Amino acid sequence: MDLVRVALDIPLPELFDYLPPRGRSAAALRPGQRVRVPFRGSERLGIVVEIASVQSRQSRRELRAILDVLDTESAFGDALFASLLQAANYYQHPIGEVLFAALPPSASERPAARADHDPVLCRIDAPERAAALKPDTAPWRLYQALASGPQHWRALIAATKVDLRARKRLLDLGLIEQIDESAQARQVQVAAPPPNAAQQAALDAVLAHRHAYACFVLEGVTGSGKTEVYLRAIESVLQAGRQALLLVPEIGLTPQLVQRFRERLAFPVLVAHSGRSDRERADAFARCRVREPLVLVGTRCAGFAPFADLGLIVVDEEHDASFKQQEGFRYHARDFVLMRAHRLGIPVVLGSATPSFETLHNLELGRYQRLLLPQRAMAARAPSVQLLDLNGQKPIHGLARTAIDAIGAALARGEQAMVFRNRRGFSPSLHCELCGHSPTCERCDRPLTFHKGEARLKCHYCARIQQAPPACPIDHSPLKPVGFGTERLEQGLIELFPGVPVLRFDRDSVGAGHEFESAMAQARAGQPVILVGTQMLAKGHDLPLLTVVVLADADHGLLSTDTRAGERAAQLLVQVSGRAGRAQRPGFVFVQTRYPGHPFFQSLLAGGYRNFADAEMALRAGLDLPPYCAQALLRADSLIEEDVMAFLDSARLALPEDADVRGPIPAPHAKRANRFRAQLWLHCSDRRMRAEIVKPWLPKLSQLPNVSRVRWSLDIDPISDD
Ligand code: ADP
Ligand code: ZN
Repeated sequence: MDLVRVALDIPLPELFDYLPPRGRSAAALRPGQRVRVPFRGSERLGIVVEIASVQSRQSRRELRAILDVLDTESAFGDALFASLLQAANYYQHPIGEVLFAALPPSASERPAARADHDPVLCRIDAPERAAALKPDTAPWRLYQALASGPQHWRALIAATKVDLRARKRLLDLGLIEQIDESAQARQVQVAAPPPNAAQQAALDAVLAHRHAYACFVLEGVTGSGKTEVYLRAIESVLQAGRQALLLVPEIGLTPQLVQRFRERLAFPVLVAHSGRSDRERADAFARCRVREPLVLVGTRCAGFAPFADLGLIVVDEEHDASFKQQEGFRYHARDFVLMRAHRLGIPVVLGSATPSFETLHNLELGRYQRLLLPQRAMAARAPSVQLLDLNGQKPIHGLARTAIDAIGAALARGEQAMVFRNRRGFSPSLHCELCGHSPTCERCDRPLTFHKGEARLKCHYCARIQQAPPACPIDHSPLKPVGFGTERLEQGLIELFPGVPVLRFDRDSVGAGHEFESAMAQARAGQPVILVGTQMLAKGHDLPLLTVVVLADADHGLLSTDTRAGERAAQLLVQVSGRAGRAQRPGFVFVQTRYPGHPFFQSLLAGGYRNFADAEMALRAGLDLPPYCAQALLRADSLIEEDVMAFLDSARLALPEDADVRGPIPAPHAKRANRFRAQLWLHCSDRRMRAEIVKPWLPKLSQLPNVSRVRWSLDIDPISDD
């Protein structure tokens, strides 16, 4: 008997068996098609995974039929579909959730229109011959609609309700002509700087592998010309008629970047962003499905685009943590597109000034190939970096005297300065001078951040907000702010440099889209300004007049116990430093710390990122930590601590005796929104061994006696210890 196996968007690993729709044979269905099926008393959207002619456990009479088939072909394309199944297997995640994560949400409802984009403009060509048209026919109406000027074919159909035949008739009669928009785009191209020797070598290496899988690591500091290499490599792939994907981190996708691509490429540049409307993403995906040369620029979710003919993948800032989805289907977009490239037999370029340790390890193993851009493309030299010891001096508004003087000098030269602090709000905590009381979030046991402008206390961990108390609730003494957030630094800078615009960039002040761009436009206008902000400022904005960068607090990463804290801190420091002196003027970076003798600074500042990474990776190797092992992290939480520990204890017992398990232990931040959180770590020598252990383990987890009392999730290749 022919059965259709369907995946549903539910957190269960199983597929569900259905009969083909009434009156149709299963042979007419294809994997990847969306279908509507009856499920537990209601209707659900599902995705066909396989057609099987097997003996079902259920008898034919118990099986129900598919109600409706939404697509005429796979909604994903065969190669992407296969990669998604591979990812579901690799991440041991329910197949339905994986497939639905890859569909743009609005596409879950609409039939996927095939090739509904049309880059072609129509316009009237020979008006003198229009008399040949019979009034009130479809071609006539189409012709009339064009009288006011050229229009997109899609807009024309919407206005006139006519179809392709009418257009063909007009074309046959020579009454209209079509204009290829991409040919027009060619005229607005901006001249490209000739590549330098290192860029050319990188390009040659990538393009020599155009027809086979290969992974290149393009290593170069900010300003070394990586984007220029992406542009040229992508252009050459598009000229060959194929498509390209450029993945960027959440904070890297700026209108400036997209505009640079649009100005340079004579091909469509599409954008897909997790923050954008579903509709826009669905449209971009629909267009990728058409065999037409184009490049898609986007964040994590763009990795799921159903390209008809993908020829190259670039991942910019490949070390960035935003490529990892931290809830639901916890995949890593970089690793997923590597799977895709492997299947398609196409090259991948991973760009970074500070490659992740995973990537460095793959270089060590010879799996990836290193391409180096050793110098900044335009500036004479790298910025000078100076540590400022905050001990034994009284910082003014959170800034050392030397830093303040340097900012002042830059402004006096007509240049710009940036103060970086990865903490929003006025101060990370408040403190009673008399009794030592400090307001904390009861639900998380963590200090509340003071937001002075709003007179609020916010928990940055569970997002709860409350009024700021006027005084200490215990003894009514004044509460003193402790530490500096971006809001407090902004106020301090306004006092220190009256009359100089201070632009604050954090989630409280500019949100995501337009506010950010308009503030950035003000900075780009070139007046002396001071920018202050969080990691929003770390990347992507070319400010040629920015010469002084101050890291107000570089110690955060040194004090954290997270496995990756050092790696992250080093990446951030290098990246933020890269903001200084991008053009001809020399840059100066000041790093404020209370631990100037810390080996972190010694190794990073004296020897650079690679030197730091070598030392840190040797430590990880000694402790059998990633990238020298394959990890899986089982997290669980509940309102009741005992339930969590009991669940994890029995989960541990369900593992083979010789497995390297660590825990259960409370999470580093054990309480969040009143829920107790704990974890169990599985360390395996490699991925294959991990898969062998995890596969039989997972089904046992959902059978454990305490499972209904906890929320749990499994993270394959976790990137956070919390
Ligand atoms: P990255 O992506 O590594 O930060 P970009 O590609 O953005 O570097 O280059 C930094 C700046 O240098 C840009 O303004 C770019 O136009 C310029 N640039 C890059 N390559 C060259 C080159 N070969 N010749 C001249 N200018 C270049
Ligand atoms: Zn909280």
